[in-house]
Amino acid sequence: MARMRCLWCIEPPYQEVAVLKWRGEERERLTVHLCRKHLARLKEAGQAGREHKGWWYKEGWW
Ligand SMILES: [Zn+2]
Repeated sequence: MARMRCLWCIEPPYQEVAVLKWRGEERERLTVHLCRKHLARLKEAGQAGREHKGWWYKEGWW
């Protein structure tokens, strides 16, 4: 694991998850590490996604 902390905080990662990151027409498919709390937040956000610093994230690559 290259990144040993959560994407959104300094907690150690709980799980690696495939996410779609988007902003307007820009799309990026990537795999990120999230802590337990932020993984739960992402799942709660569902298809609507979760915004962080101007970018939106949701679980899955579609
Ligand atoms: Zn976190």
